[in-house]
Amino acid sequence: MTATSLADRRNAAISRGVGVTTQIYADRAENSEIWDKEGKRYIDFAAGIAVVNTGHRHPRVIEAVKQQLDRFTHTCHQVVPYENYVELAERLNQLVPGNFTKKTIFVTTGAEAVENAVKIARAATGRQAVVAFGGGFHGRTFMGMALTGKVVPYKVGFGAMPGDVFHIPFPVELHGQTAEQSIGALKKLFAADVDPNRVAAIIIEPVQGEGGFYPVTTAFLKQLREICDQHGILLIADEVQTGFARTGKLFAMEHHGVAADLTTMAKGLGGGFPIAAVTGRAEIMDAPGPGGLGGTYAGNPLGVAAAHAVLDVIKDEDLCNRATSLGNRLKQRLESLREKAPEIVDVRGPGFMNAVEFNDATTKLPSADFANKVRLKALKKGLILLTCGVHGNVIRFLAPLTVQDNVFAEALDILEASILEARSA
Ligand code: PMP
Repeated sequence: MTATSLADRRNAAISRGVGVTTQIYADRAENSEIWDKEGKRYIDFAAGIAVVNTGHRHPRVIEAVKQQLDRFTHTCHQVVPYENYVELAERLNQLVPGNFTKKTIFVTTGAEAVENAVKIARAATGRQAVVAFGGGFHGRTFMGMALTGKVVPYKVGFGAMPGDVFHIPFPVELHGQTAEQSIGALKKLFAADVDPNRVAAIIIEPVQGEGGFYPVTTAFLKQLREICDQHGILLIADEVQTGFARTGKLFAMEHHGVAADLTTMAKGLGGGFPIAAVTGRAEIMDAPGPGGLGGTYAGNPLGVAAAHAVLDVIKDEDLCNRATSLGNRLKQRLESLREKAPEIVDVRGPGFMNAVEFNDATTKLPSADFANKVRLKALKKGLILLTCGVHGNVIRFLAPLTVQDNVFAEALDILEASILEARSA
């Protein structure tokens, strides 16, 4: 079966709403490499969108899941609970930033984690409103969509969003939006649109993911925390994309010494198996009544087993420091290209949550076209890259943190060649 005919079958069988960025049909994958149905090998710098931080099929993750497969695969924790679910909650309660007693729930996807964080925040505060950021991404469910700060393609055509959701601009100095202006916008919002005493939560990605890989500053997060405390508002850190060693710390909030009241997690937690979580202050997590939280597959035993192995691997293989050293090498390489490629306007990101942003060399305007050219050139040469950003002009790097040195070096060579070729194309 060729990829072309599979693409035709896919188009005929699957809603176009599920977009795809490559025409690679995966056959098998190992650590940082994927082989397609035709046997062509690719270096994977997408990691299933920040999921396999520990690499495809990490042997310890696979072993943990195999052992679980041989014992039981599903009982539904709400009916017949199991110990490793409890133990994983205990581990996250220790690991998630915040010097206070915590509790955890497990769900299945990032969007579900966000939905539940908002439910919990509303139950705990008795308030309704939620403030989010322009350009932010929080999932494709209704509350996730409402919180997401981008209309096309996430909200368009899907009708009325849940009410009482407000957006303020995310601070991105590169685009003229300072942290002070964003704090000013929040104060204006409280003066003009919503009484802060009605706000249940403010939700923020410590590094905006889909929106363009823009990190916030410590000073900004501290101010946000102060404003939350002043008005009894809960701070939700959406660590779905930033979590699990990606930024050089287990959680991105650790860079700032600011603790959120609630933290959402997914993606990297399961190392390729679907599991997500919300961890937060114990008294807040206990606000919803019994039966108000959960789900049939929430905290599925296979996902839980995988997550335990992921946490072990991150620690034993020192993946936080590995993220930082890989990220530094990548950023240095990109910086060294600036002279030859004036399209590069910014190279950024903590740990290995890195991005390069492109403008048109003549107009100096964001160039999605250039970013896309680089992505397609790289794909042809066997390197899978992802774009992101409100303007689509950013390439983000999300390779497994376990990527082998020689594969990483090969990827950097492909990246450089692709950027230089995109200039002459
Ligand atoms: N929050 C953030 C920050 C995300 O990056 C994503 C996914 N890209 C989500 C929530 C939604 O996660 P999921 O796709 O697992 O529902």
